[in-house]
Amino acid sequence: MVPSTLGPLDRFARRARRARQLAASHPASAPSLDLFARLSELQSRRASREEFRALTPNIPPEEWLDRIEAELHLMPQPPDAPHLCPHCGSPPQLGILRPQGDGHALYLACALCRQEWPFSRKTCPNCGAEAISFATAPSLAGYRTLTCDSCKIYLHLLEESKLPGLIPEADEIAAQPLDIWAIGNGYRKLTPNLAGI
Ligand SMILES: [Zn+2]
Ligand SMILES: [Zn+2]
Repeated sequence: MVPSTLGPLDRFARRARRARQLAASHPASAPSLDLFARLSELQSRRASREEFRALTPNIPPEEWLDRIEAELHLMPQPPDAPHLCPHCGSPPQLGILRPQGDGHALYLACALCRQEWPFSRKTCPNCGAEAISFATAPSLAGYRTLTCDSCKIYLHLLEESKLPGLIPEADEIAAQPLDIWAIGNGYRKLTPNLAGI
């Protein structure tokens, strides 16, 4: 039986709609946003594993399908590290900058359950080093990419005040020009998104 909270406005349907809107305004990221929208629509109606597999013949690994299923049926497992999700123990997908005082406070967002938690703006959300820098792109207002020169990871930070209607896991996929920049400079994504970037 499908729980009553699941319907046309569940979070998967909302993020599918957001991804389709973003695809129209971010042509460089449109193929990934479109894939993510179709994936989210399948999640919204609890599609079978076969349907997910048919959606992405180019991303076949079972671990990707496991992650999609885990997102639908969460198994909380609290961690003991400040850079991991306090709810389920997964690493962050992205960061959100929220206005606070004269600046911003940083929240990390879980790659799996989407829980958000506050985190220092001065240290790497993977290794804790202070060797972090930020990159921006002229075409992407409201996006900053955090890179760490100690462990060589990167992740995107989204400025809530500059991204009206923000749905973090959808908006993050629109940052593809910054992914290309980061990967080209020798960094690897802390957690690839469900579009495979
Ligand atoms: Zn989590
Ligand atoms: Zn690091």
